[in-house]
Amino acid sequence: MIQSDNCIFCKIVSGAIPAIKVYEDEQTLAFMDINPASDGHSLIISKDHYENLLEIEEGALTAVMLTTQRLARAIKKALKPDGMRVSQFNGAAAGQTVFHYHAHIVPYHQGDKLGSHGRGPGDPEVIKQIAAQIRDALGS
Ligand code: AMP
Ligand code: ZN
Repeated sequence: MIQSDNCIFCKIVSGAIPAIKVYEDEQTLAFMDINPASDGHSLIISKDHYENLLEIEEGALTAVMLTTQRLARAIKKALKPDGMRVSQFNGAAAGQTVFHYHAHIVPYHQGDKLGSHGRGPGDPEVIKQIAAQIRDALGS
Protein backbone atom coordinates (compact mmCIF):
# COMPACT_ATOMS: atom_id res chain seq x y z
CA MET A 1 0.00 0.00 0.00
CA ILE A 2 1.36 3.41 -0.98
CA GLN A 3 0.71 5.79 1.92
CA SER A 4 1.52 9.39 2.70
CA ASP A 5 2.00 10.79 6.20
CA ASN A 6 -0.54 13.40 7.27
CA CYS A 7 -2.96 12.53 4.46
CA ILE A 8 -6.51 12.40 5.79
CA PHE A 9 -7.69 9.94 3.12
CA CYS A 10 -4.74 7.59 3.82
CA LYS A 11 -5.87 7.70 7.47
CA ILE A 12 -9.39 6.70 6.40
CA VAL A 13 -7.92 3.80 4.37
CA SER A 14 -5.86 2.59 7.35
CA GLY A 15 -8.80 3.01 9.76
CA ALA A 16 -6.96 5.63 11.84
CA ILE A 17 -9.91 8.00 11.38
CA PRO A 18 -13.54 7.02 10.77
CA ALA A 19 -15.62 7.49 7.64
CA ILE A 20 -19.13 6.50 6.60
CA LYS A 21 -18.12 3.85 4.08
CA VAL A 22 -20.39 2.53 1.37
CA TYR A 23 -18.11 0.32 -0.73
CA GLU A 24 -14.66 -1.21 -0.57
CA ASP A 25 -12.59 -3.54 -2.72
CA GLU A 26 -8.89 -4.32 -3.04
CA GLN A 27 -7.94 -1.08 -4.76
CA THR A 28 -10.71 1.40 -3.97
CA LEU A 29 -12.85 2.78 -1.16
CA ALA A 30 -16.04 4.86 -1.35
CA PHE A 31 -17.43 6.92 1.52
CA MET A 32 -19.78 9.81 2.17
CA ASP A 33 -18.50 13.39 1.92
CA ILE A 34 -18.81 15.02 5.35
CA ASN A 35 -19.69 18.38 3.74
CA PRO A 36 -22.27 17.24 1.23
CA ALA A 37 -23.29 19.47 -1.67
CA SER A 38 -26.46 17.33 -1.86
CA ASP A 39 -27.88 14.15 -0.33
CA GLY A 40 -25.76 11.23 -1.50
CA HIS A 41 -22.58 13.24 -2.18
CA SER A 42 -19.90 10.58 -2.07
CA LEU A 43 -16.19 10.22 -2.72
CA ILE A 44 -14.35 7.39 -4.43
CA ILE A 45 -10.65 7.04 -3.73
CA SER A 46 -7.77 4.85 -4.70
CA LYS A 47 -6.48 3.07 -1.58
CA ASP A 48 -2.95 3.80 -2.74
CA HIS A 49 -1.90 7.42 -2.30
CA TYR A 50 -1.53 9.40 -5.52
CA GLU A 51 -1.86 13.15 -5.40
CA ASN A 52 -4.03 13.68 -8.45
CA LEU A 53 -4.86 12.67 -12.03
CA LEU A 54 -1.36 13.53 -13.20
CA GLU A 55 0.23 11.13 -10.71
CA ILE A 56 -2.14 8.18 -10.51
CA GLU A 57 -1.08 4.86 -12.01
CA GLU A 58 -3.27 3.39 -14.78
CA GLY A 59 -4.57 0.36 -12.87
CA ALA A 60 -5.63 2.45 -9.88
CA LEU A 61 -7.30 5.02 -12.15
CA THR A 62 -9.28 2.32 -13.93
CA ALA A 63 -10.32 0.79 -10.61
CA VAL A 64 -11.56 4.17 -9.32
CA MET A 65 -13.58 4.74 -12.51
CA LEU A 66 -15.20 1.31 -12.29
CA THR A 67 -16.11 1.87 -8.64
CA THR A 68 -17.48 5.32 -9.60
CA GLN A 69 -19.79 3.71 -12.17
CA ARG A 70 -20.90 1.01 -9.74
CA LEU A 71 -21.65 3.60 -7.06
CA ALA A 72 -23.42 5.97 -9.48
CA ARG A 73 -25.74 3.13 -10.49
CA ALA A 74 -26.45 2.34 -6.82
CA ILE A 75 -27.11 6.03 -6.02
CA LYS A 76 -29.49 6.24 -8.98
CA LYS A 77 -31.37 3.21 -7.71
CA ALA A 78 -31.39 4.28 -4.05
CA LEU A 79 -32.00 8.03 -4.24
CA LYS A 80 -33.51 8.47 -7.71
CA PRO A 81 -31.79 11.77 -8.56
CA ASP A 82 -32.57 13.36 -11.93
CA GLY A 83 -28.85 13.50 -12.66
CA MET A 84 -25.40 13.13 -11.16
CA ARG A 85 -22.22 15.11 -11.58
CA VAL A 86 -18.87 13.32 -11.35
CA SER A 87 -16.00 15.71 -10.69
CA GLN A 88 -12.36 15.63 -9.78
CA PHE A 89 -9.97 18.50 -8.97
CA ASN A 90 -6.25 18.77 -9.64
CA GLY A 91 -4.28 21.39 -7.74
CA ALA A 92 -5.35 23.97 -5.17
CA ALA A 93 -5.98 26.53 -7.91
CA ALA A 94 -8.61 24.19 -9.37
CA GLY A 95 -10.29 23.68 -5.99
CA GLN A 96 -8.51 20.54 -4.75
CA THR A 97 -8.35 20.52 -0.95
CA VAL A 98 -7.38 16.91 -0.21
CA PHE A 99 -4.29 15.87 -2.13
CA HIS A 100 -5.13 12.17 -2.46
CA TYR A 101 -6.77 11.21 -5.76
CA HIS A 102 -10.57 11.04 -5.51
CA ALA A 103 -13.72 11.53 -7.55
CA HIS A 104 -16.92 13.16 -6.28
CA ILE A 105 -20.43 11.98 -7.16
CA VAL A 106 -22.97 14.74 -6.52
CA PRO A 107 -26.63 13.80 -7.15
CA TYR A 108 -28.82 16.51 -8.71
CA HIS A 109 -32.55 17.06 -8.73
CA GLN A 110 -34.18 19.18 -11.44
CA GLY A 111 -33.53 22.86 -10.75
CA ASP A 112 -30.67 22.30 -8.27
CA LYS A 113 -27.98 24.97 -8.36
CA LEU A 114 -25.14 23.29 -6.49
CA GLY A 115 -21.51 24.16 -6.02
CA SER A 116 -18.86 21.51 -6.48
CA HIS A 117 -18.39 21.41 -2.71
CA GLY A 118 -20.84 21.56 0.18
CA ARG A 119 -21.02 24.68 2.32
CA GLY A 120 -20.50 22.93 5.65
CA PRO A 121 -20.89 19.70 7.58
CA GLY A 122 -23.98 17.59 6.95
CA ASP A 123 -26.02 15.96 9.73
CA PRO A 124 -24.12 12.70 10.46
CA GLU A 125 -27.35 10.81 11.21
CA VAL A 126 -28.88 11.83 7.88
CA ILE A 127 -25.67 10.94 6.04
CA LYS A 128 -25.62 7.52 7.75
CA GLN A 129 -29.22 6.84 6.68
CA ILE A 130 -28.44 7.78 3.08
CA ALA A 131 -25.32 5.60 3.16
CA ALA A 132 -27.41 2.64 4.35
CA GLN A 133 -29.77 3.12 1.39
CA ILE A 134 -26.81 3.21 -1.01
CA ARG A 135 -25.26 0.08 0.55
CA ASP A 136 -28.60 -1.72 0.17
CA ALA A 137 -28.74 -0.77 -3.51
CA LEU A 138 -25.14 -1.95 -4.01
CA GLY A 139 -26.00 -5.29 -2.48
CA SER A 140 -29.13 -5.92 -4.51
P1 AMP B 1 -11.47 18.24 -3.16
O1 AMP B 1 -10.08 17.93 -2.69
O2 AMP B 1 -11.67 19.71 -3.43
O3 AMP B 1 -11.91 17.43 -4.31
O4 AMP B 1 -12.49 17.93 -1.98
C1 AMP B 1 -12.23 17.11 -0.89
C2 AMP B 1 -13.55 16.70 -0.31
O5 AMP B 1 -13.28 15.85 0.79
C3 AMP B 1 -14.42 17.84 0.21
O6 AMP B 1 -15.69 17.80 -0.44
C4 AMP B 1 -14.52 17.56 1.71
O7 AMP B 1 -15.80 17.89 2.24
C5 AMP B 1 -14.25 16.09 1.78
N1 AMP B 1 -13.67 15.61 3.04
C6 AMP B 1 -12.62 16.15 3.70
N2 AMP B 1 -12.34 15.42 4.80
C7 AMP B 1 -13.24 14.41 4.84
C8 AMP B 1 -13.47 13.33 5.73
N3 AMP B 1 -12.72 13.12 6.82
N4 AMP B 1 -14.51 12.48 5.46
C9 AMP B 1 -15.27 12.68 4.37
N5 AMP B 1 -15.09 13.67 3.48
C10 AMP B 1 -14.10 14.53 3.71
ZN1 ZN C 1 -3.32 9.71 0.92
